[in-house]
Amino acid sequence: MSLPIKDILSHLHINDINHAFSTGSNWGSSPNAFVKDVTSPTDGKKIATVKFATADEYNSVVVTAQKAFKTWRQVPAPKRGEIIRQIGESLRENKKQLGTLVSYEMGKSLQEGYGEVQEMIDICDFAVGLSRQLYGLTMHSERPEHRMYEQYHPLGIVGVISAFNFPVAVWSWNAMLAWVCGDVCIWKPSEKTPLTAIACQHIAQEVFKRNNVDEGVSCLVIGDREIGELMSSDTRVPLVSATGSTRMGKAVSAAVGARLGKSLLELGGNNAIIITENADLDMSLIGAVFGAVGTAGQRCTSTRRLIIHQSVYDAFKEKLVNAYKQIKIGDPLDENNHMGPLIDQDAVALYLDSIEKCKAEGGNFVVEGGKLEGDAYASGCYVKPCIAEVENHFKIVQHETFAPILYLIKYSDLDEAIDLQNGVPQGLSSAIMTNNLREAETFLSYAGSDCGIANVNIGTSGAEIGGAFGGEKETGGGRESGSDAWKVYMRRQTNTINYSKTLPLAQGIKFDL
Ligand code: NAD
Repeated sequence: MSLPIKDILSHLHINDINHAFSTGSNWGSSPNAFVKDVTSPTDGKKIATVKFATADEYNSVVVTAQKAFKTWRQVPAPKRGEIIRQIGESLRENKKQLGTLVSYEMGKSLQEGYGEVQEMIDICDFAVGLSRQLYGLTMHSERPEHRMYEQYHPLGIVGVISAFNFPVAVWSWNAMLAWVCGDVCIWKPSEKTPLTAIACQHIAQEVFKRNNVDEGVSCLVIGDREIGELMSSDTRVPLVSATGSTRMGKAVSAAVGARLGKSLLELGGNNAIIITENADLDMSLIGAVFGAVGTAGQRCTSTRRLIIHQSVYDAFKEKLVNAYKQIKIGDPLDENNHMGPLIDQDAVALYLDSIEKCKAEGGNFVVEGGKLEGDAYASGCYVKPCIAEVENHFKIVQHETFAPILYLIKYSDLDEAIDLQNGVPQGLSSAIMTNNLREAETFLSYAGSDCGIANVNIGTSGAEIGGAFGGEKETGGGRESGSDAWKVYMRRQTNTINYSKTLPLAQGIKFDL
């Protein structure tokens, strides 16, 4: 570890026991709050303790956020952008500490921990530019001496429910855009990674305080799914942005839909790379192995399936098997290791169960999986990445197992490969490896990938913040981060202004008195 964790915790204002909620620099928790120890999957050691918020505390946070919205929406968008610029600066200053804590609390490699904070910095920069570009259109009115245009107004409170695997970046994708749009945010982080959320809240609230902004603009509520459920059915929260499993997304969507609120859903993936007979196999190997093994297979964009042309199937399988022999598994804070642990022992049990189910359906493991034992793996969360030859229709292959299990599927023509790629309930990320223009363009056409992300000669994992991020089908249909994803954080209003001396009606309707 490059920095001692004790110093990092104190630098990021993480205490031994941490409060359940924060409305800016105001932190609190009830005396009989549920108390939870947060342990690191890297070494099984307790890092700190957090308290969970009660329903009453959640309600008081919403009231504070509502009040903060009334002043924040009056701040001109470019001035809001200036404050986001300062948050970006603060993240730059804290990158090493925050990135290390992400790695220690969640278990991803140190490089990926730093990368996650870099993504936060990038979205801050994006949001600063965006703060001067919240454009609406003007239209020509059909009536003389009339002007028609549209403008975007902030929504109010944006509830952000986030998953454990990107414990801080996903919040920043939402919060930075929501803030420049004039919204306020209440963040319910994953109960598995609350400490990095507390660290981010300290960073943001310090900047808001320094700028004399009502700190209720940035609120944090620690808790489990019950807080998420309260938020989903709360009419005071016009937009709920929820990242997590498809199971969770269906529950959030139903609750938000029942009150006709807005939801932005970023749910599970079941991502495939098609490796054609015209692929560069060395490039394909890097994309496939990083996609399957990076973050121990715990990215929503992790590569779960390789759909390989029959003419290169055996050669590529051999390359893969050899590459898997080189993978170093261990403490993710040691930069020599490629793969760290799964998030907890429950995740290990699900991984082992998926292997059994795959075998029961006829899967042939060419690289065996299993739990790793020994002192270096004392947390009980380390597993072996494995590879199985399967059929796409297997129940287990249709399901997202959040672990490093890679499925190999053989194909003979491109249409079949695209059908296989699309033949799962999820629709997040997809890729084709080919040097053939026709294959690449077919994959990107309306007859190609049905996913929100479709890449050529890049793997499925590792998106840039400039594009709109999200997926179709059971991935939930939401888009966040770049492009025009900001529009979901605002309400659109069409305005028609009559500067004539008469009142002509649209469509030429006559109504004389
Ligand atoms: P999870 O669904 O268990 O939990 C995610 C969050 O939802 C947590 O904060 C949890 O407390 C909350 N939650 C759970 N049930 C809820 C309910 N009924 N109502 C409201 N909130 C509820 O997911 P996880 O295990 O933390 O994360 C892994 C999953 O997230 C994977 O499926 C992965 O693909 C997905 N994910 C998707 C994206 C994306 O952008 N598409 C990004 C990251 C993770």
